[in-house]
Amino acid sequence: MALRRILDASKTDLLRKRSRPITDIDRRILQLLDDMADTMHSVDGCGLAAPQVGVLRRAIVVDVGDGLIELINPELVEASDEREDSEGCLSIPDMRGFVVRPHKVTVRGLNRKGEPVEIKAEELAAVALCHEIDHLDGVLYTDKMTRIDDSKNDGDEGGEGGEDDVDSVEFERA
Ligand SMILES: [Zn+2]
Repeated sequence: MALRRILDASKTDLLRKRSRPITDIDRRILQLLDDMADTMHSVDGCGLAAPQVGVLRRAIVVDVGDGLIELINPELVEASDEREDSEGCLSIPDMRGFVVRPHKVTVRGLNRKGEPVEIKAEELAAVALCHEIDHLDGVLYTDKMTRIDDSKNDGDEGGEGGEDDVDSVEFERA
């Protein structure tokens, strides 16, 4: 298990850059995927994109509690059911905000074996996938935010626990 440092968007412009497609799934890419999953789980996050750990390659991991999703070169191919929900980002600590996102998506990409996969996701998983794919294009949720979510900005790590709010999809720190 190897943890990587998660970059803070306020301290680097790396998160504003576009990540390059992965053409060769070599040992370094497999190690990157493993480390990203470990890093995400270590902070109870539900998603992480490679640029957040300083690697400008198109790889994401998502885990909303239904098992780990790893995707290389992910692409959003279908999106519907747009709704506004509160979300946060591991690279933007101590803040949450409302974003309109599709809650039903189909995403295509490659798995770690280089095989094409298609994932249909709903609710939190759909939001997380969109959030992470945005990271690969240098887009942060704050670019799309309609308003700050004050309900959780109580100084307690941006509401990492968050079980109290049943009305919003819990998108804790991806
Ligand atoms: Zn994020």
